[in-house]
Amino acid sequence: MTVLRIAIVGFGKIARDQHVAAIAATPGATLAAIASRNASLPDLPHFATIEELLEKGPPIDAVSLCTPPQVRRAQAAAALAAGKHVMLEKPPGTSVTELDPLVSMARDAKRTLFATWHSRYAPAVEPARQWLASRRISSVHVSWKEDVRVWHPGQGWIWEPGGLGVFDPGINALSILTRILPYQVFVTAADLSFPANRDSPIAANLKLADSTGLPITAEFDFRQTGPQSWDIIVDTDRGRMTLSGGGARMAVDGKVFAEAPEAEYRGLYHRFVELTATGADDVDLTPFRLVADAFMLGKRNVVEPFVE
Ligand code: NAP
Repeated sequence: MTVLRIAIVGFGKIARDQHVAAIAATPGATLAAIASRNASLPDLPHFATIEELLEKGPPIDAVSLCTPPQVRRAQAAAALAAGKHVMLEKPPGTSVTELDPLVSMARDAKRTLFATWHSRYAPAVEPARQWLASRRISSVHVSWKEDVRVWHPGQGWIWEPGGLGVFDPGINALSILTRILPYQVFVTAADLSFPANRDSPIAANLKLADSTGLPITAEFDFRQTGPQSWDIIVDTDRGRMTLSGGGARMAVDGKVFAEAPEAEYRGLYHRFVELTATGADDVDLTPFRLVADAFMLGKRNVVEPFVE
């Protein structure tokens, strides 16, 4: 069996929390190097930049880009130009259109470009999709509220243009929503709250619909203290389905249908290995387009400054 030699680029919170262990647990994958300006791991080749990695590093087949979205397009282009497969953390970039030339490059080079949506690999997402496929849905509500100080400490990039603010977690909800609902959805209204001293929203209320007129509401808030919520509630002709814990648990009228230990990143790396075997790509921009439309339609409210 050939083993996919992967370098992680951008060794921050998610690389440490998830990627290292997920690569170690994935048959057919191995962590071969790290490129990060300030961080490294003992016993692994380390380079400050992706350029240095590609020029002077050990042989690798792929890079996993765990940097903030603002720098990922250039890194992906450099890696594809060097003949490497590329895995992108979510969101896949800073604009919808910047992905088009990357997809073309990957296809021309017959290399994999994988734009990941880790929340779609949460254990109750597929059971929820299957359960909803044969139900009549009457309304959907998303509540995605977390404390930015707890989950994103010191991440200044999230407040910069392209950092998405509260849509950084909110896009996870949209990635699940667009997977479990039977029809395509679109944004009809958005209320965005920008701290007076920041360039990205701290909260957002969205209205969405599908072609049948299904009412969908979504509340994203970074100011949540106390209990956090990563929930999607779907009312149907056969009861209320609640997908909670970011997709970890599915219940109908309180009765648990699916619940399993989290293994999202192992699912991602399994898929990456599978894709690279043929050089196929997997780039679904649907959740990203919804966020872009929310910014395009968004009514802007200025709220109190955010000081970390
Ligand atoms: P992070 O903790 O800020 O880590 C990103 C790392 O990238 C930094 O530690 C930094 O390492 C490097 N970096 C930062 N700015 C850079 C620049 N301008 N040029 C080159 N390298 C730079 O962020 P994170 O939470 O890991 O998030 C990274 C991505 O993963 C985001 O897109 C986020 O949405 C996604 N994600 C995060 C989580 C989470 O729970 N945190 C969960 C799922 C997905 P060096 O200083 O060593 O270069």
